[in-house]
Amino acid sequence: MKKGELRATISRGYREMSELTKVKCGGDKCPGMGDKAYRCCDQLHCQMTIDHAYKAWGIRLPTTGHQFPLMGPTGCTALPHLRPWCTLHQCQIQATGSTKDRKWDAKYFRLRNQLTRLEQQLAEM
Ligand code: SF4
Ligand code: SF4
Repeated sequence: MKKGELRATISRGYREMSELTKVKCGGDKCPGMGDKAYRCCDQLHCQMTIDHAYKAWGIRLPTTGHQFPLMGPTGCTALPHLRPWCTLHQCQIQATGSTKDRKWDAKYFRLRNQLTRLEQQLAEM
């Protein structure tokens, strides 16, 4: 696969991952975080994203002036592949490695492993 194709595949994969984790986040699925306006966002993760987007993708992400530098009025302004740690994060997976939804878990880990392999390939190019 050429570099451009690989990048497009990675970007698509993270978009898919973002859609997948979305259904396992929010409301009562956010233990102890449900009442926080921005739940699991963190300034450090925004900074990591700004650095990663530039180093790995050559993209300079504009900051928004929010306490979380990439948070916009309707959510995160960075595309899912530019913030891999945020896109891959889901509390139950992080805590126990399972959401107790076997079908969903299988899909999550299959996609996550595929993305890890693709990112390794890209890093070696
Ligand atoms: S990762 Fe956790 S805190 Fe963040 S939105 Fe998902 S369940 Fe809620
Ligand atoms: S999801 Fe976006 S706003 Fe939230 S921590 Fe990650 S990069 Fe920052």
